[in-house]
Amino acid sequence: MKIIIDPHAGPCGGVKRAIRMVERRLQDHNDIVSIGPLIHNNAEVERLRNKGLETVEQEQVEGGDVSTIKGKRVFIRSHGISEELMQALQDSAAEVFDGSCPKVIAIQKMIRREYDAGRQIVIIGKPGHPEVVGLNGHCDNKGVVIASEKDFDKIDFSRPIFLVSQTTISHRKFIDLMEKMLQITSDIVVKDTVCRQVMNKHEDLRNFAASVDVLLLVGGKQSSNTAVLFELAKSVNPSSYWIEAEKDIDLKWLGSAETVGVSGSASTPMWQMEKIRDYLQNVLLPVQD
Ligand code: SF4
Repeated sequence: MKIIIDPHAGPCGGVKRAIRMVERRLQDHNDIVSIGPLIHNNAEVERLRNKGLETVEQEQVEGGDVSTIKGKRVFIRSHGISEELMQALQDSAAEVFDGSCPKVIAIQKMIRREYDAGRQIVIIGKPGHPEVVGLNGHCDNKGVVIASEKDFDKIDFSRPIFLVSQTTISHRKFIDLMEKMLQITSDIVVKDTVCRQVMNKHEDLRNFAASVDVLLLVGGKQSSNTAVLFELAKSVNPSSYWIEAEKDIDLKWLGSAETVGVSGSASTPMWQMEKIRDYLQNVLLPVQD
């Protein structure tokens, strides 16, 4: 049995950058608070906690109530935050380290500009997702968040629209909803904000999943990005399984597989995939001999 790590696996540039940034800061201060988990990955959050990174839930502080972190050093993860929360942190935290992904910051700026120009902001994404909450917080929370065509009744199609999306949604979904909106009105400025790293990841994962007998997708159970990738992998390889760690692997899945692929989402660090590979190589293979 061959165990292969997907050559295209690993976190996206925005997450890698945030982890690098926070690890640098943790060398000088072991008392930093992250606004929400840095990535949707429990083991990585735990590793960083051991270095001094605490986490508060974003919902606890969105809306401007930052009393719990007053006077502390805070770190903003790659998803970004609302203008209101940023202002509140700058007014009350000891120091603010901004790890927002530059691509997300660019979308936030576009939203502010188009909103100020009088356009209705429509965001295709998951309601309540931290990046979406942050984006909407750049148009005074007046944006309309849509997850499917069913949400079209929330949009005022008589007004000019600026259409963007959460960076991690499927590109097909973005194009599909955009085309449907264009059938209703032509007064839409569209900015395709699906992250290319995520888009390529979809194609890369599709090819990788199809090339192995069994696919183990490593990612946090609360990660919407992993959920999208898992559906995609399943569609080309029914023997695909979503795991968080080696304890989730059921040996029966491997059956008579000749190749087992290990891949991950945008928030899965390489060390976790290597751990799965090592586990399979060092523990499972000798047992099967
Ligand atoms: S998915 Fe793309 S936009 Fe989102 S954090 Fe990663 S690199 Fe940035």
